[in-house]
Amino acid sequence: MTNLSYIQQHDKAWLTFLEQIDRVSPFLEDLKEHIDILRRPKRVLIVDVPIVMDDGSIRHFEGYRVQHSLTRGPGKGGIRYHPNVDLNEVMALSAWMTIKTAVLNLPFGGAKGGVRVDPKSLSPRELERLTRRYTSEIAHIIGPQKDIPAPDVGTNQNVMGWIMDTYSSGQGHTVTGVVTGKPVHLGGSLGRIKATGRGVYITGCAIAKKINLPILGAKIAVQGLGNVGGEAARLFQEAGAIITSIQDHTGTIHHPEGIDIPKLLDYLQHAAGVAGFEGAQVISNDDFWTTDMDIFIPAALEGQITVERAQNIKAKLILEGANGPTYIEADDILTQRNIIVVPDVVCNSGGVTVSYFEWVQDMASFFWSEEEINQRLDKLMVQVVDDVWNMANQHLCSLRTAAYILACRRILTARKERGVFPG
Ligand code: NAD
Repeated sequence: MTNLSYIQQHDKAWLTFLEQIDRVSPFLEDLKEHIDILRRPKRVLIVDVPIVMDDGSIRHFEGYRVQHSLTRGPGKGGIRYHPNVDLNEVMALSAWMTIKTAVLNLPFGGAKGGVRVDPKSLSPRELERLTRRYTSEIAHIIGPQKDIPAPDVGTNQNVMGWIMDTYSSGQGHTVTGVVTGKPVHLGGSLGRIKATGRGVYITGCAIAKKINLPILGAKIAVQGLGNVGGEAARLFQEAGAIITSIQDHTGTIHHPEGIDIPKLLDYLQHAAGVAGFEGAQVISNDDFWTTDMDIFIPAALEGQITVERAQNIKAKLILEGANGPTYIEADDILTQRNIIVVPDVVCNSGGVTVSYFEWVQDMASFFWSEEEINQRLDKLMVQVVDDVWNMANQHLCSLRTAAYILACRRILTARKERGVFPG
């Protein structure tokens, strides 16, 4: 493992990525000589984002855009607004995007952006000003052929609309393909908002079938009932699974016979979180990790499955809806305990897949129906599960290592064939 001068020893997310790369290295044969390309981002941009607040004062926020790899195509990756965003996190998230686009064989590299801000503390006008100023600061490195942002935690389709509008103003014409996850009437794609949750469901069902775990009657615990966890929970319940426990930032709720997800999602339209929902009982956040479950879906933030939690969790199958939810030491424990983990780079890749469809539709100015989009998404996700499953059987390794082998071979083959300029 090598590290960069601007990254500290405690910067866990980036170090986790480096460790994941070290683990895949023995499987890469002669491509190994190019692997250092993955151990450093291609481009890192840190920007100051000053905005005028509603009370007339000026506040400064720190923003980032990291392009980890552009070897296979333009950068692709979301923008996160969260008070804990830092360079280390954005670098790791951008690197996971490189792996994700390659494992899906999408013609993109990996990128990510973020602003260190609590978006809930801003008024709508302040949020818009922040977004437009951040966009103008990173505008010279983004674009439909350079790097295409999308929503992530704390951002949504309105934010993408403002980015598109700000970027387009600078270009002198409308450039819909600069971001994905936009509102549909601004060149967004049908099916995009639900795509990541749908992908978690599709990959989960495909793997459950391979390990003979029936979805009908399966007990499922979900952490995070936002965009990803909400849709995944809804689809699993529709397929006959029982969602027994849900945790979000406000607390944990439990019902042994199943929580009514559509009702809870309706409730969340107006409530801050799951804690006050009447259709279930409140349990402690610690108890969540030891409740009875067949499937666990972490769909909140990274670093949630620690060694201790990995030792106690009862699930047979873990579907990583969130990015980087499992610490590397915890991952080893899950493997030893024969718990199957569908890694984030596969499991939550439905969003980037439909983002790719959105970009293609924007470039062609020709739009598909939701049914067409879901059919293409389902087919691609089932295919990637098969590819990763076969690779894992061939090398007797975890699904995560298998996904990394597949992705790293594609990226490093592209690197090798492009050569190193100036040669
Ligand atoms: P979101 O903001 O819609 O929802 C996040 C959920 O996590 C909320 O329910 C929130 O209450 C919960 N949460 C936050 N902090 C928590 C904590 N400390 N403990 C328990 N729960 C907590 O976000 P999202 O878009 O659903 O994204 C969730 C995860 O999925 C993130 O890791 C994100 O990077 C990843 N992801 C999202 C997409 C996408 O298309 N939205 C695509 C790929 C990956």
